[in-house]
Amino acid sequence: MTRRKLVAGNWKMNGTRADLGELDGIAASALAHPNVDVAVAVPFTLIAAAAERVPTLAIGAEDVHEKPSGAHTGCVSAGMVREAGARFTLSGHSERRADQHETSHDAWAKAMAAHGEGLSVILCCGETEAERDAGRAERVVQAQIEKSVPDNAHADWFTLAYEPRWAIGTGKTPTEEDIASIHAIARAKLRTMIGDAANAIRILYGGSVTGDNAARLLSVDNVDGALVGGASLTAAKFVPIIEAAA
Ligand code: PGA
Repeated sequence: MTRRKLVAGNWKMNGTRADLGELDGIAASALAHPNVDVAVAVPFTLIAAAAERVPTLAIGAEDVHEKPSGAHTGCVSAGMVREAGARFTLSGHSERRADQHETSHDAWAKAMAAHGEGLSVILCCGETEAERDAGRAERVVQAQIEKSVPDNAHADWFTLAYEPRWAIGTGKTPTEEDIASIHAIARAKLRTMIGDAANAIRILYGGSVTGDNAARLLSVDNVDGALVGGASLTAAKFVPIIEAAA
């Protein structure tokens, strides 16, 4: 089955209005490469301005709360980010799992809430370095998928991202064999949960993707795109990744 590639950026806690100009070049590249889907998750504070500035580009949130509203100081709901102009959200990013102690169940609840508000979801999973060294990477990823993939996940709105924690922001990447092995296991796990619908679901690789390694990483079996942190902050670094996916 052929799946359209998706190249998604994640600005994390970076960016002010002064940086929004970078999205102009990213949006232009997205329009120039219609065979690739391009998306950028930005901090809550930039969603509305980004969505207004580049209406052709899919702007998303980096997280949402699982409840629609209520007494949750400092949190933002899926409906709120949708109203601000987000079309998707990340869920279960490893930095939220590590910094905010979010569990796979939390990632599931957030993904369900986002889908309920009409947002697409990029759900992140991935092992730590200690888990990989202990030979547990496959089991960890399978368990995360089992607990966090939303009910009735469908390719129309759901994407999985495999991001080994030790590869995020480190310049280290797994071997192509290791990526192929985890992506195959992830797809097989999805198949046990949602049947043949799993064949259409995109599985992104994330962790130190750059313009230099993108073509190689994107050519691995079952790698249907990339989730990109540091190299998504400027058009100069992100556009070569879009071009590698095209
Ligand atoms: P990185 O981050 O590309 O900076 O390694 C990836 C991510 O955390 O999504």
